[in-house]
Amino acid sequence: MQKKRISQPVSILNNPIEYIQGVTALKADLLKKELGIFRFQDLLEHYPLRHLDKTRLDKIGQLNASNEYAQVAGKVTDINIMGEKRSKRLVVTIEDDTGELELVWFQGINWVQKMIFPGQPYLVFGKLSFFLGKPQMAHPEIEAYSPQKNATKPFLEPVYPSTEKLKARGLNGRVLAKLTAALFQLIAEKDLPENLPAPLISQYKFISRYQAYRQIHFPVSEQHYQHAVRRLKFEELFFAQLRMGLIRSARHRNSRGLLFGQVGDLFNNFYNEYLPFPLTGAQKRVLREIRKDAGSGRQMNRLLQGDVGSGKTIVALMLMLIAADNGFQSVMMAPTEILAQQHFNSIRLVLKDMPVCVKLLTGSSKARERKEILKLCGDGSLQILIGTHAVIEDHVVFKNLGFAVIDEQHKFGVAQRARLWKKNSIPPHILVMTATPIPRTLALTAYGDLDYSVIDELPPGRQPVVTLQRSENTRHKVMDFVKEEIAKGRQAYIVYPLIEESSKVDYENLMKGYEEVKSFFPEPRYWISMVHGRQDAEQKETNMQRFVKGETQIMVSTTVIEVGVNVPNASVMVIESAEKFGLSQLHQLRGRVGRGAEKSFCILLTGPRISNDARERLKIMTETNDGFRIAEKDLEIRGPGDVEGTQQSGILNFKLADIVHDRVMLEAARAAAGGILESDPDMKEEDNIPVRSWLQQQKGKTAWSKIS
Ligand code: ADP
Ligand code: MG
Repeated sequence: MQKKRISQPVSILNNPIEYIQGVTALKADLLKKELGIFRFQDLLEHYPLRHLDKTRLDKIGQLNASNEYAQVAGKVTDINIMGEKRSKRLVVTIEDDTGELELVWFQGINWVQKMIFPGQPYLVFGKLSFFLGKPQMAHPEIEAYSPQKNATKPFLEPVYPSTEKLKARGLNGRVLAKLTAALFQLIAEKDLPENLPAPLISQYKFISRYQAYRQIHFPVSEQHYQHAVRRLKFEELFFAQLRMGLIRSARHRNSRGLLFGQVGDLFNNFYNEYLPFPLTGAQKRVLREIRKDAGSGRQMNRLLQGDVGSGKTIVALMLMLIAADNGFQSVMMAPTEILAQQHFNSIRLVLKDMPVCVKLLTGSSKARERKEILKLCGDGSLQILIGTHAVIEDHVVFKNLGFAVIDEQHKFGVAQRARLWKKNSIPPHILVMTATPIPRTLALTAYGDLDYSVIDELPPGRQPVVTLQRSENTRHKVMDFVKEEIAKGRQAYIVYPLIEESSKVDYENLMKGYEEVKSFFPEPRYWISMVHGRQDAEQKETNMQRFVKGETQIMVSTTVIEVGVNVPNASVMVIESAEKFGLSQLHQLRGRVGRGAEKSFCILLTGPRISNDARERLKIMTETNDGFRIAEKDLEIRGPGDVEGTQQSGILNFKLADIVHDRVMLEAARAAAGGILESDPDMKEEDNIPVRSWLQQQKGKTAWSKIS
């Protein structure tokens, strides 16, 4: 990125933590091991959890359930040890002039007991709970109280995250505050130089970096604190977006890519003669975007999002045909054998008699077949290879791999993507297709190093799936309904939760369920397929195929059918214990029905106990079919850390920012970063020099260098 290096003075912030007064070798060791604090900079970024306003006290008599935390001052009137052994606890009663509060410790009893004396005044802070209507605090923070002394203390005292181990060694939050204060004695304004462009600072009225760090630790007022947080959050988001943008543009500029210069006979023939339906506008647009990219001479890394059933597979296939037209091989990777098999079957089906060599390679391919496939890959006569992880194993060598499609990304990590790159001397173009859409903001944040396409339109004629929630008690009625649908010639899925692939309980539940389903749907009038994780590939396949061919009317399964399976005649899905499923999982499952022209139903059966979160999930499911809206809601309920596809990326672990709540700021930061990358990518302009020197200084210090 930079041509001329700006010489960097060694920053005092790189000094080891031992240079701070009071940090002994032993303490330094603990800080490193427990909190990852090695240098001044790390301590500076060890932000307080909150601040205590020592001058503001709650009256015990006025505490109620709306007070999550409370701070009170009062005299200790009683100290008791209660219970024995495991239930042993220390109960301290403290009172002010309005009431009594119980403080409880289950651990560190001896130590606390030595610190507290009856009749003495204390300042107490902690999380409040009520027991039989009386206020209580477990493991509060407590210190001797004297009104004069406390009034002269800083207005807001920082409270730092610490660990039990640190606390036991005398490195509690208060000591961390002292160390941080000592650190500020050693550093000055110049040690925290500006790293944002001046126009941005004035546009958003940001306080200086030095002030921001000071105020986030030791704010003089709530408002100062808010300003500090705002600036530091913005910085975090801005540099995250900038780094991703740099990775992307470096790739654009430097990476030589394979040239898919022409659209040839295979594509044209397929388009004109074989395509079973007209493409949607969105499918066409995405095809154009990707064609342009792959025809540009640089390597493509693209994320393709589209709701369940939006028709990503056919787009991928057509791109693989373009690759073949240009003399390149393609590979399509799916997360499960069933799905790989399905892709293989449906692709073979639409290609009919076209002269394209397509093979399937999975973990259960027979040795002879495997050998044959490897030979075809190696000599270049195979054009499309479909499979599971098996296709990226090292012994799979291609003559000229040009295009790789990764379906249902969330089961693949960044590492696997990198492995694909190495399959050709010039890395193949890569298309990552997500199984469940994630909100655009999140996608651009988590996969900011990838280019982005979206199929935001469903094929015509799709009716939204009618989704209902029903209690387990009414199962027989639900099954009667399923019978009616089957009588009309349709098929049904009945899905059981699978929390862990190997869980015995899940398996037993499934078997019980299967017996029950059989009693509702006796042979020979009805036939049932069953698919679950404990079957071998052949069993799964046989069962799947019988259902696909319509030989069985009912498919009982665990979530192995979650992704991709395509049986348009299936019009009902019953999901057992639906409250146990996550939102995106429910949406994926539901996507298995509503694939044909018939009106389809998804019935969520629920048990007697449903948590509030689960209730909300179920409600959203019954309200909308829109995967993007569901993804937004999911994000709101669960937070970004849990959203599928983002865990492995590790990109969303900001210290301060939260991409759900700080979405507006994220947009602003992305726009600002994008603007710089566009107008001054080398950051040579006066205004951008601070940004550039900061990036240089931080090089190699973050996880960023490991991404992409
Ligand atoms: P997903 O995006 O979830 O992977 P698929 O690629 O499996 O979706 O497509 C879902 C179904 O829609 C398939 O049966 C496919 O043949 C069909 N389909 C795809 N595109 C269209 C279209 N333009 N018109 C009609 N049906 C389509
Ligand atoms: Mg799919």
